[in-house]
Amino acid sequence: MAKEYYELLGVSEDASQDEIKKAYRKKAKKYHPDSNSETADEEKFKKINKAYDVLSDEDKRKKYDRFGKEGVEGHAGRGQRRAASNFQDIFEEIFGGGSRRRKSRGKDLKITTTVSLEEAYKGVEKTVKVSRNTKCDACSGSGAENGNTTTCSKCNGQGRIRTIERSVFGRKQVVKECPECNGTGQIPEEACKECSGDGIKEEEDKISFEVPAGIQDGQRLRLEGKGHENRKGRSGDLYVFVTVEEHESLERRGSDLYTAKKIGVGDAALGCEIKVQHPEGEIEVDVPSGTQPGQVLRVSGKGMPERFGNGDLYIKVDVDIPEEISEKEREVFEGLRRKPESSKSFFESVKDFIN
Ligand SMILES: [Zn+2]
Ligand SMILES: [Zn+2]
Repeated sequence: MAKEYYELLGVSEDASQDEIKKAYRKKAKKYHPDSNSETADEEKFKKINKAYDVLSDEDKRKKYDRFGKEGVEGHAGRGQRRAASNFQDIFEEIFGGGSRRRKSRGKDLKITTTVSLEEAYKGVEKTVKVSRNTKCDACSGSGAENGNTTTCSKCNGQGRIRTIERSVFGRKQVVKECPECNGTGQIPEEACKECSGDGIKEEEDKISFEVPAGIQDGQRLRLEGKGHENRKGRSGDLYVFVTVEEHESLERRGSDLYTAKKIGVGDAALGCEIKVQHPEGEIEVDVPSGTQPGQVLRVSGKGMPERFGNGDLYIKVDVDIPEEISEKEREVFEGLRRKPESSKSFFESVKDFIN
């Protein structure tokens, strides 16, 4: 019977638990998809996990040795849960705790900004004031006046402490930031007067950024490194949530723009040129002769910018039928009333009247 799981971890079939654990640790580190290394390989990583899940559990391992994969599949019981918490321990050893990477920089900052439809069309540079944490210069982030610190006794200067947590899955070892020294491993002998020992200060900061053309309402921009700074001067990111204001006459759907325009009966019949409000300013649009009430004209490429070109502009044409008419207009409309018997077309009749 093929002993695939042993091969995946690169251990012999009589390997001890210690050897299996060591081998797994090495392989997991090599193929972990978040490891940023060239060998990162999610598929391989999953297989290795599966192999370790089975071989690290003596019960499952015995079944696997006797029956192969079939012997260990479809039994999601306590053993699997135990293995899951084994993974957790090992990961914390390898990667130093679940969120260490996040903790090694400051917190993310979130702000909102509002742009007009015109600004969303062309793109715009915005400058906003934010209050963000920055490393205290007076103490270089140590929080200590004159820079004198002593080693934290709670964590022995490690900045992290290990505790055992009990959960429904059993006991689990977790690594946490030391609360005594906030993860620095050092305690100030005297608190810095500038920051009261925090090592960080809050500052008003002006931040400029580009809102790209075509931005959608509710879209989020990420400004790398513009968030809060931590004591080491490393910054989180700044997230800008953009609201696009509604326009008085243009409605946006995706990258298309919609508007409505009222024209006279004669203009609808004969065709005309209309002016339409647009983010570029007023634009002129040709209305062809014979345009019907409620007809929608499409102006290609005059919508909002998107990845490839622009969307379209749609204009719904309303025809204004006069409620009160002059004597002269009455004559024309009377003439049009006889249209069915007339050999002239509707448009010709209107043209006759205009000329
Ligand atoms: Zn300070
Ligand atoms: Zn400590």
